[in-house]
Amino acid sequence: MAIKNHILGFPRIGLHRELKIAQENYWLKKITLNELLAVGRKIRKKNWKIQIESGLDYVTVGDFAWYDHVLNISMMINNIPKRHCINEKKLNLDTLFRIARGSKLTDKNCSASEMTKWFNTNYHYIVPEFTCDQNFCFSWKQIIEEVDEALSLGYPVKPVLLGPLTYLWLGKIKGIYFNKLDLLKKILSVYQEVLLELSLRKIKWIQIDEPILVLDLPEDWKKAFNYSYKVLNNNKIKILLATYFGDIHHNLEIINNLSVNGLHIDLIAGKYNLSQLHKNLNDKLLLSLGVINGRNIWKANILKWFHKLQSFMKIKNTFWISSSCSLLHVPLDISIEDNLTDFVKSWFSFGVQKCLELSILSRALNKKLDIQELDNWIKPIDEYKSSNIVNNTVVQERVSKISFDQIKRKNNFIIRSKIQKNELNLPILPTTTIGSFPQTKEIRKLRLDYKNRVINQKDYEKEIKIHIKNNIIQQEKLGLDVLVHGEPERNDMVEYFSEYLEGFVFTKYGWVQSYGSRCVKPPIIVGDISRITPITVKWSKFAQSLTKKPVKAMLTGPVTILCWSFPREDISKENISNQIALALRDEVLDLENSGINIIQIDEPALREGLPLRKKEWTNYLSWSVKSFKLCSSGVKDSTQIHTHMCYCEFNDIMPSIVDLDADVITIETSRSDMELLEFFKTFKYPNDIGPGVYDIHSPNIPTIKWIEKLLIKALQYISPERLWVNPDCGLKTRNWIETSLALQNMIQATINIRKNFLKK
Ligand code: GLN
Ligand code: ZN
Repeated sequence: MAIKNHILGFPRIGLHRELKIAQENYWLKKITLNELLAVGRKIRKKNWKIQIESGLDYVTVGDFAWYDHVLNISMMINNIPKRHCINEKKLNLDTLFRIARGSKLTDKNCSASEMTKWFNTNYHYIVPEFTCDQNFCFSWKQIIEEVDEALSLGYPVKPVLLGPLTYLWLGKIKGIYFNKLDLLKKILSVYQEVLLELSLRKIKWIQIDEPILVLDLPEDWKKAFNYSYKVLNNNKIKILLATYFGDIHHNLEIINNLSVNGLHIDLIAGKYNLSQLHKNLNDKLLLSLGVINGRNIWKANILKWFHKLQSFMKIKNTFWISSSCSLLHVPLDISIEDNLTDFVKSWFSFGVQKCLELSILSRALNKKLDIQELDNWIKPIDEYKSSNIVNNTVVQERVSKISFDQIKRKNNFIIRSKIQKNELNLPILPTTTIGSFPQTKEIRKLRLDYKNRVINQKDYEKEIKIHIKNNIIQQEKLGLDVLVHGEPERNDMVEYFSEYLEGFVFTKYGWVQSYGSRCVKPPIIVGDISRITPITVKWSKFAQSLTKKPVKAMLTGPVTILCWSFPREDISKENISNQIALALRDEVLDLENSGINIIQIDEPALREGLPLRKKEWTNYLSWSVKSFKLCSSGVKDSTQIHTHMCYCEFNDIMPSIVDLDADVITIETSRSDMELLEFFKTFKYPNDIGPGVYDIHSPNIPTIKWIEKLLIKALQYISPERLWVNPDCGLKTRNWIETSLALQNMIQATINIRKNFLKK
């Protein structure tokens, strides 16, 4: 058949998060290794069955991972950080989990490897570690075992591996600096071995993922591509080079000269004119066209694709169609949802439905299916557009009338700062926290009981108030200057807010892997967004009524709510973000009217939403900054706006951070020595800033001396009038003992610095 179909990968967590449950039970020693392995086999078997029964031409094998697919490669090539090696005869699953999670098994320091975001997605991978003298070997043969497993079930197998260059690119150098590419040759020889073993199994095609081909690559990396694929080509197995998350126009020259047999391109994230592309491409390459969105959950307009691809068939009559990227980023199956109406469900395609879309589309292109089927499939798309769940003219009008005045504070920071200083009467180096206090078992149970209707609203609110009161008492006792209510009522900082906003729907089983055994259930933005009722006001007001000190209210910002949801696609992200901003702007004003003088708007996702390529940054930063300001600028000069971001690598977007014009920003510095501060040597941040003085991700209690040292360092770059003192993120994951001890030391250190250092 002329048109074949496949996917780049399927979700590995199982329909009911079986993988998560099994992993966690194994870690708790509640199940044996064999039981864990059996769960993995069952998930894979089911995933392959779904692919074949949907009508795909291949099953993708190698997308499964016990923790993460980048870590799979570290295991495969025996790249095990030294601290995790404990003289095992053979690498095994425990080795893998040690790297991912750290371990206390030995007396050595066995901290987990770092984790970071997989390109611009919300999936986190385990960062490979490289040292200059390293050697590699084919030590973990999971890929071969899984291929054999699928072959024994009689499936047409297409294995997938993360490519050597992307793997190397994503890793970090440990110890003495060297050029990572120096390791390439050694890594390639392991890949060669893997390919050879696969080709012995009469595998026709292997998919090798090199998503870094959508980035702007340095020259030596471009050259390395040519070399690498020459080495890997063995004439026995065909290589389908997979690119995704963007287009590859800027790297076409390299790609055309590679010794590969096929090329996958992402037609969702990348902008391609197919016939133009074909003219510029090496004619011998088999094309795999990523037409079904692997990053979002909307039903695809396969009729539109049908017409597009049918005319492309006149130029090239053989190609494959596929998902744009792996389906790792979407939930498994919409059909099991029992929370949504059939009408709403009909708008979505999750993993299983995306396989079906590919199947319908390819059968239609191969003239094996009546075009009417395509029509039937897409009917809900039209119904969606005209649904009154989607359209809210009041919101649309409000967005269309956003004025310059709305995105600007009344006066500049210098004027505001004076007014706020008078009004708030805070000491020099004010102390505060980022918002959440320990989320104890009790609090979690309380929320769950309320959700499951075990307790009624009145009793629930009574209990929440007790927690808030306790948080206030603790903070007063500690002597903090700006207090918070502690967020006991919040599960997740995005889900909590979206539940109070019109325009969102929520799935019950729509889990997506975030990392390891952790899954998230992103809300889905289906319509124009507006606020149903005030969200946080009653809690902040209650907290403020308990104390004379200022209580800082806490909101999640528009860009973060957008980034951590599945967005609608019929309007721009900018538009969605502005809708959320307007809804939150009302919340900000209600808070102000209820007597709250300090409001923090968290934007941890602003940096991670940054496009992969620099040329797209300006546009993104311009609308995201505008949204933040739309949300925050309606207040009086005397109301102090804070923002918080949890990362330290934002030197490159500093001008935009300044443009947010928050009165105070609290940020995560480096896990170590406030590396970020060096930056302020050359860059004068104009407003107030609180670089986190200790790492809340670690249970270690920072000493007074340590914090003093950091504050003295901070004062070299930031004037005392501008400096705030705070932990580097929210305290929800810590317990109360750790929290009180750490805050006590933070406050004592601040008092010491105020007394000894600033008086001199
Ligand atoms: N206010 C939130 C908290 O303290 C911020 C969380 C975050 O930055 N991720 O938990
Ligand atoms: Zn944070």
